[in-house]
Amino acid sequence: MNDTSERVLIVGAGPVGLVAAACLAENDIPVTLIERSDDLPKDLRASTFHPPTLDMLDRFGISEKLIARGLVCPNWQFRDRSEGVIADFDLGMLEGETNHPYRLQCEQWKLSEHLREHLDTLDCVQIIYDATGESVVQDENGVRLTIKRSDGSTETLSGRYLIAADGAHSNIRRSLDIEFEGLTIPEIFLSMSTAFRFDEAIPDLAPIAYLTDPSEWAVLLRTPSLWRVLLPTDPSMSEAEIKAPEMMEKRLQKLCPKDGPYEVAHATAYRVHQRVAKKYVMGRVFLAGDAAHLNNPLGGMGMNGGIHDAVNLTEGLVAVWNGAPLETLGRYERQRRKVAIDTVQEQSLRNRKIMAENDPAARSAYHDELRAIVADPARHKDYLMRTSMLQSLKDLEAIA
Ligand SMILES: Cc1cc2nc3c(=O)[nH]c(=O)nc-3n(C[C@H](O)[C@H](O)[C@H](O)COP(=O)(O)OP(=O)(O)OC[C@H]3O[C@@H](n4cnc5c(N)ncnc54)[C@H](O)[C@@H]3O)c2cc1C
Repeated sequence: MNDTSERVLIVGAGPVGLVAAACLAENDIPVTLIERSDDLPKDLRASTFHPPTLDMLDRFGISEKLIARGLVCPNWQFRDRSEGVIADFDLGMLEGETNHPYRLQCEQWKLSEHLREHLDTLDCVQIIYDATGESVVQDENGVRLTIKRSDGSTETLSGRYLIAADGAHSNIRRSLDIEFEGLTIPEIFLSMSTAFRFDEAIPDLAPIAYLTDPSEWAVLLRTPSLWRVLLPTDPSMSEAEIKAPEMMEKRLQKLCPKDGPYEVAHATAYRVHQRVAKKYVMGRVFLAGDAAHLNNPLGGMGMNGGIHDAVNLTEGLVAVWNGAPLETLGRYERQRRKVAIDTVQEQSLRNRKIMAENDPAARSAYHDELRAIVADPARHKDYLMRTSMLQSLKDLEAIA
């Protein structure tokens, strides 16, 4: 192999690939990032940063920049669509556990933008755009990645290791035939963004609110510029029917009646999967982020969990690069796969269950439980430790 093989290849310049690149570059490890698009994607996806993620991003000076462009949210709620507030969680209780005892609402693309600015200043990082990672092969010395350009031409890149951060439909995961076990949630999720100030219309509304309802749960999320509404939708409807302006208007008016029509700035309808890859590590190739796990967005754990993967994986990879045995990275798989299954899948499915429960007795039991948790300071803090993903990072230490 030539000199260019002395590097780590990262497929996918989403938040996970970019964070992984920054962590490796911090340790002077040469990195080549391969991105399918001709620029960083700017679509509206994740908007919630949990406290430990902000702690991790402090090291590149990026949390500060995100906070300046985001919305600091000291509390979040479970509400009922007809009864109002059920439980108001005070993230201030996490003081002393994190440098950021709040959730930050800030669009995911702003993180990507700041990470790229940072990486562009570093000589050891190269980003190749308009290059789709197609497949990877490996031997005991390194990996070879085939990339394809939009003009149809192909090329092979060599590296010592490869991180697959190429998202939900990961070509790399497929090329290694790694099973992506799990399920697809029956309903379609409709996300609508509007400039309407729900906080001025709904009494005591926190900037992040999960609304339970026996027939139609909802999420209300404030971002720096807009409010986002997430609603479950009948999967037998076509995307055109779901996003028809009159249909969206009817649903928004039902959620929060107001004079005059809603102006919907963006709408996305998407299928949601709950899946975890059977293997995160295959020889010299490592899966991270959405390539490794998918979950519903109730709780805002997808991007956050992916960033935690990137930090954990690169810590191990730096040690391996500097001489530790490759087997060291088995711990990455054991730790992060467990978090994906026991924390992210468990919590996001439970949130959906609480919000969608339609049996009156079970509904009222969930509500009573949430009220009891908030009323008891120890349980309140414990709940916040888990939902903010701080606990999952503490628990990892016990996994050899
Ligand atoms: C509507 C919506 C709302 C969400 N809200 C939240 C939230 O509030 N909180 C949260 O934590 N998560 C949320 N998520 C999930 C979150 O967006 C993802 O978990 C996160 O983007 C994962 O980051 P990633 O870097 O692993 O993958 P991606 O962001 O998907 O990035 C993958 C990158 O790889 C590129 N790529 C793909 N295939 C290839 C290839 N073969 N070769 C080269 N490049 C490739 C893509 O262009 C992209 O740039 C939401 C998702 C959606 C869809």
